[in-house]
Amino acid sequence: MLDNAHLISELQTHGMRLVDPNAGHESRRGGAGPSDHKAITIGDRTVMIPVHTAPSFDSPYMVDTPDATGAARVTCNGAEVAQVRFPTRAKFYQLTTAEGVPYSHIATLHSKDVLATTVLQTCIRYESRKKTCQFCSIGQSLAAGRTIAHKSPQQLAEVAKAAVDLDGVTHMVLTTGTPAGKDRGAKVLCESAKAIKAAVDLPLQGQCEPPEDDAWHQRMFDAGIDTLGMHLEAVTPEVRQRIMPGKASVPLEKYFSSFEAAVKIFGRGQVSTYILAGLGDSREAILEMGEKLCSMGVYPFVVPFVPISGTPLESHPAPMSDFMVSVLEPLGQMIARADIRSVDMKAGCGKCGACSALSSYEKLKVPARKVPA
Ligand code: SF4
Repeated sequence: MLDNAHLISELQTHGMRLVDPNAGHESRRGGAGPSDHKAITIGDRTVMIPVHTAPSFDSPYMVDTPDATGAARVTCNGAEVAQVRFPTRAKFYQLTTAEGVPYSHIATLHSKDVLATTVLQTCIRYESRKKTCQFCSIGQSLAAGRTIAHKSPQQLAEVAKAAVDLDGVTHMVLTTGTPAGKDRGAKVLCESAKAIKAAVDLPLQGQCEPPEDDAWHQRMFDAGIDTLGMHLEAVTPEVRQRIMPGKASVPLEKYFSSFEAAVKIFGRGQVSTYILAGLGDSREAILEMGEKLCSMGVYPFVVPFVPISGTPLESHPAPMSDFMVSVLEPLGQMIARADIRSVDMKAGCGKCGACSALSSYEKLKVPARKVPA
């Protein structure tokens, strides 16, 4: 049997085939960030595993139909390798707003207790094929009618309250496509956070590009955003240019100055970034960036790239599981040594951790720090 951290890396890179495609709650399809996943619980961790991607159709991992309690057997080439559980469907999905908008079109349940929404489902980077981030499917769920273009602060507050009351959601991720203004999405995050915090006491993560003016960090914090994600996605200039030609126009230096300013407001370990491994950045480049980010107090959330159907990268291979382990194992140790573990984050993707095996590696034994005599 594989240990859980390796099993998560195996499943997240290969994906899984389901005997019953309707098992568990709805899979995520389209939207910002990683997608085409389904949540399953392995040991005490709920993780997101690709199910609608090209590699997952050929995955050696097969998950049986769950029994009445949600438990299911996982096999690899026919041999049992693990037992997993499927979380039950969110209760708030049954509700609609007074105007008839299903709550599930406003926010979705990620993992088992995280509410997530893309506040603006449009993006300046998505409007031309030349500029779009090649991995992103923010427009697909909108085109398919599974979401709405702009979630109003009132709608978000209503859904957040219901998700806390009915499903015990413990934190919320507010991401956004990048609008045209200099705030880069910070303004719409402030408006949303204020309304949600007025309705329910729920830790929030805001995710946007670095705002042009650092004063937005304080405004976001004052509006009720507890943690901030500003996502690099790729770390070397060549990969940034190839994978996200529009967003690569924001120089790395701008990210670093914005991280530094944000850590002063939100605190060490409460600012994070997403890095997609498997798009061409070497192990060394990711770890070098990880070291720099950790020293700044920025949590480097490295996840395996998932080739989402319908995007320009749908045929790009997912990273090998060995590659992920070779990155995540030392990175988990770096994070533990910098004392910015995911478990101490107040809200957000790093805290949720369902899209990566990273947090499992933070728990491994780290050599004790030397105490001065
Ligand atoms: S890590 Fe982020 S994107 Fe992944 S399931 Fe958790 S909240 Fe959603």
